[in-house]
Amino acid sequence: MQRVRREDTVLVLKGKDRGRSGAVRKVIPGEAKVIVTGINVVKRHMRPRGPQKPGGIIEREAPIAWANVALLCQACNKPTRVGFRMLSDGRKVRYCRKCDANLD
Ligand SMILES: [Zn+2]
Repeated sequence: MQRVRREDTVLVLKGKDRGRSGAVRKVIPGEAKVIVTGINVVKRHMRPRGPQKPGGIIEREAPIAWANVALLCQACNKPTRVGFRMLSDGRKVRYCRKCDANLD
C-alpha cells in the first residue's frame, strides 16, 4: 500500500523547491518517486523528431523521491506522516499521524 498517491497534495522537504507544495501527478513505485505538478521542473533539450515534435527546450517535472516530500493532510492542513489502519469493515486506510483523520 502506498503512502503517497495520485492527486494527493504534498509539501516538498528537500531540493530547490523546498517549502512548496503541489499535487501528485504520477507515482513511480519502482523508483520510490513521485512527479508533482510544478515541482522540480527541469529544462530538457530535445532534438527535432519530425513535424509534430519540433524539438527545442522544453520544461518538464523530474521525479522526486518519496522520502523528500510530506503529505499535506486535508483535515489539519499540516505536513504529516502517514499511518495505516484497518477499519471495522476490513478496509485498510491511511491516516494522519498528527490529527488522526482518515485520509482515504
Ligand atoms: Zn491531519
